Amino acid sequence: MLMAGVLGCVAAAYAAKPAAAPYTLRGDWQQGRLIFGHTDPRAKVEFDGKSLLVSPQGDFVLGLDRDQAADAELRVAVPGRAASVKHYTVRAHKWDVQRIDGLPPAQVNPPPETEARIAHEQVLIVAAHARDTERGDFMQHFQWPASGRVSGIFGSQRILNGTPKAPHYGVDVAVPIGTAVHAPVGGVVSLAEADLYFTGGTLIIDHGHGVSSVLVHLSKLEVKVGDEVQQGEVVARSGMTGRATGPHLHWGVYWFGQHIDPQTLVPPMPATQAAAKISKPRH
Ligand SMILES: [Zn+2]
Repeated sequence: MLMAGVLGCVAAAYAAKPAAAPYTLRGDWQQGRLIFGHTDPRAKVEFDGKSLLVSPQGDFVLGLDRDQAADAELRVAVPGRAASVKHYTVRAHKWDVQRIDGLPPAQVNPPPETEARIAHEQVLIVAAHARDTERGDFMQHFQWPASGRVSGIFGSQRILNGTPKAPHYGVDVAVPIGTAVHAPVGGVVSLAEADLYFTGGTLIIDHGHGVSSVLVHLSKLEVKVGDEVQQGEVVARSGMTGRATGPHLHWGVYWFGQHIDPQTLVPPMPATQAAAKISKPRH
């Protein structure tokens, strides 16, 4: 009894004076979000076992996928201090799921002869998303790459003839073909392809620390791989190339392979643009 009492006192003393976390965070622990962190620039940061870059100013970023598991672990080790290991609960988002049955099979799956092409293109895209550069552009406030009616939201999913298709990993803005497309924040162009099977004219801009923007269905690319771009710079013209059903800009944001909702990074679309009557939906 005595021992238990003593240990109880020790535990209470620790509880009363918890060590302050050696970092601060900004963002919501919810699926599809980025979380921005700040710590000692010398710190070693790991998120779910993945080592993260820490900038010379102490900034880091992590992403919570559309389907992120509920439990996430952040480990921050500052030299000379015990490592901080903390678990966070990621809130699930209720994504829009639509079931469509009775479609002709050709409409559900790409033709078999396109398999090799699609696989090759996927390798290029995966390589672009895998980049982990020291750029700090991701710390800027993101801007919409184009203004118009939001015609498709992030995370929605269609189940065609019982087969779940890839969720919609981006936001669609209905704009006429040829509309200027602006860099949401600065970066370096990591992929510029005029004609990919699914996405047609496609740009990927590396914003640093694994954060990138994907801009697709473009009719014209105004930049090439390796170009440095500034926030707001015109990087392309919109279109409806690839498997698009109408003219629109599709904008995706990634943290490595994780899918982030771009709309969580920008202010609401200005009302006049949001109300504009421009037709045609997502791809
Ligand atoms: Zn889209």
